[in-house]
Amino acid sequence: MKKPSRATFVIGNWKMNPRTLREAEKIATELAKKYARPKTTVILAPSFLHLSAVKKILKKPYLLAAQTVHAGETGPYTGSVSAPMLKEYGVSASIVGHSERRAEGETDATVNTQVRALLAQGMMPIICVGERERDHHGKYYSFVEAQVRGALAGVSRKDIARVVIAYEPVWAISSGDGKGQTATPHDAHEMKLFIQKILVELYGRTIALRVPVLYGGSVNETTAPVLMKDGDIDGFLVGGASLKPDAFVSIIRSVEQAG
Ligand code: PEP
Repeated sequence: MKKPSRATFVIGNWKMNPRTLREAEKIATELAKKYARPKTTVILAPSFLHLSAVKKILKKPYLLAAQTVHAGETGPYTGSVSAPMLKEYGVSASIVGHSERRAEGETDATVNTQVRALLAQGMMPIICVGERERDHHGKYYSFVEAQVRGALAGVSRKDIARVVIAYEPVWAISSGDGKGQTATPHDAHEMKLFIQKILVELYGRTIALRVPVLYGGSVNETTAPVLMKDGDIDGFLVGGASLKPDAFVSIIRSVEQAG
């Protein structure tokens, strides 16, 4: 039986890169030239300082995301940017709970307030979950489960339709402990099924199976096709390779071909 078509995503997390505005413009311009109209949803998350330049260069269907967001609307939160500010600026989504932010002190409770702030604005939370390391007893499953349940506390059946989950094992992120090992398609697929099982418990099968579950962690143009095909995931959150237009376009195409 043919599988129903599903929503797929490629999200580029530029982190605190590149160093200059000129380089950011160059990457965005090359991407626009190489692939102006991707057929899957492609979302770029440059630094706050580079959002404006990237927005001028990469038009629809490209979308923009922030790399984090404050849960408040306005107020005395030095250094922060809120969901209403982002929305007014034309930013559709924000990454939340990235392991590099969790390492700076963000907790599941913080992530939950960010998720709810984004949903209140009709924006898309891209929730990162993932274990720091794997143990032989499978304790990492309960770790990921706590992250998923914590992030989604109080999120309604209606609002879950706007949520994207990215499974990013920290040991596989190029900046993480494992110095960039890629998870196998089997690792990614198993965790996707596990996350879906939690979502089914929370929201029922029909709604749960529509929530996209992406994989992130050292994805590149070589690993993307096999991760898509054998991992049966709904796309990628890409760090390092999203700064290389050729590699990023090839990752986008592998998601489109598998979708
Ligand atoms: C990330 O940090 O979200 C990420 C996936 O990074 P990389 O692709 O560089 O491992």
